[in-house]
Amino acid sequence: CGVFGVIGTADAANFTALGLHALQHRGQEAGGIVTHDETLGFNSVRRFGYVRDNFTSAKIMEQLPGDLSIGHVRYSTAGSKGNTAMRDVQPFFGEFSMGGAAIAHNGNITNANSLRKELIGRGSIFQSSSDSECIIHLMARSLQQNIPQRMEDALRRVEGAFSIVAMTQTQLIGVRDPLGVRPLVLGQLGDGWVLSSETCALDITGAEFVREIHPGEMVVITANGVESSYPFRPARPRFCVFEHIYFSRPDSILGGRSVYETREAIGRELAKEAPVEADLVCPVPDSGTPAAIGFSLESGIPYAMGIIRNQYMGRTFIEPSEQIRNMGVRLKLNVNRALIRGKRVILVDDSVVRGTTSRKIKEMILDAGAAEVHFRIASPPTAWPCFYGVDTPDREKLLAATMSEEEMRQHLAVDSLKFISLNGLYRAVGGTDRDSAQPQYCDACFSGDYPVIPSDQISSGFQM
Ligand code: 5GP
Ligand code: SF4
Ligand code: MG
Repeated sequence: CGVFGVIGTADAANFTALGLHALQHRGQEAGGIVTHDETLGFNSVRRFGYVRDNFTSAKIMEQLPGDLSIGHVRYSTAGSKGNTAMRDVQPFFGEFSMGGAAIAHNGNITNANSLRKELIGRGSIFQSSSDSECIIHLMARSLQQNIPQRMEDALRRVEGAFSIVAMTQTQLIGVRDPLGVRPLVLGQLGDGWVLSSETCALDITGAEFVREIHPGEMVVITANGVESSYPFRPARPRFCVFEHIYFSRPDSILGGRSVYETREAIGRELAKEAPVEADLVCPVPDSGTPAAIGFSLESGIPYAMGIIRNQYMGRTFIEPSEQIRNMGVRLKLNVNRALIRGKRVILVDDSVVRGTTSRKIKEMILDAGAAEVHFRIASPPTAWPCFYGVDTPDREKLLAATMSEEEMRQHLAVDSLKFISLNGLYRAVGGTDRDSAQPQYCDACFSGDYPVIPSDQISSGFQM
């Protein structure tokens, strides 16, 4: 998901809409915006579909007055999986004795089921099936006298990943879990302030990047400025390495470097680790493009757009239903036949998850008359599900969970298949090998090393 918030500027909702539009790659199922206006109070619009189709008309935007606003773009990882109901669309809203608050959550709460059971047992009435709603009910039960402190209370009981943007009548609040699994950045917009999942949404609004919110940090922003605190037990950060590989937009800055540069470095590393003689390096667009450029630069093999992407399709992976995802490959990608015929082609993609996309693409490339097809993957084999906010399927559906690299090669029926090593990935992303005692990133979907015990999953039978 993507989260965004702004305080201290007229027509805040317009900025939120722009920001969410730039974060659309983080969630395409639904979006919502909440605002606060001094005379009209809180206002909220939540809609299915793209930001540009919902939050551009004057009719909608005039329902969202005020100089304080937050928003959310959703893709379902927990809750009503694959079938978002309107009641699960964020931001969520709660009314407390000291006033209202809205929250927008990116990440996934790994003890949400047990919290929900406990809360329902004590009288909470849940409105949605979303894990994020637990936060509101925990806040309602807190005895603290102000909303940021109630949020702290609530979040101390929550396990898993959260980057949250929240608002009261007068405050914009940002908070990141102690591991800092999901990103969150602070920007300045004139006299006002912005919080955003990624820096690409600062660019579109004209905000200046100030800094990342630190893992475990909470910021409370008012007209008087930014107040920072660290309410949780400190931990060694474990940022999601998959944000670097796939999830974030290539023009965003993470850890002081553009995601594009990191992906190019991953491609270079891959070319060193797994060279192969060929005529062309082609990306599987768009997610494989920067890595393919890096692979081409390192290997000296020409880069070419052997597959053309239909720009009117979204991310296939993010389509929740299997049927649509399957059809999506052809709706979205087509082979540039004239270029491919008779060529030995290296296809670079960011990841192999179920293998369905990769298999279809390989068939399309062979149909177009390629002489050889070599897959090079800019991540290690995805062998474990993510429980921290990226929707990977159940373990049985992950190709790498049940097959060796050679079995995957046979399954995809390609001439060769190589994945970047975990250490190679770490070198490309952070400059050093993986510290196996204290890994610098979350890489659980590749290593099975889960930085937060997925307790709900384990109680429903998942074996680590
Ligand atoms: P596959 O061949 O595994 O069906 O699909 C691989 C392609 O789809 C890659 O290009 C990747 O961008 C995207 N993809 C498929 N599944 C996932 C997933 O679970 N998570 C993410 N982040 N990307 C996926
Ligand atoms: Fe990111 Fe993978 Fe960790 Fe999920 S399991 S947070 S996708 S690195
Ligand atoms: Mg892709």
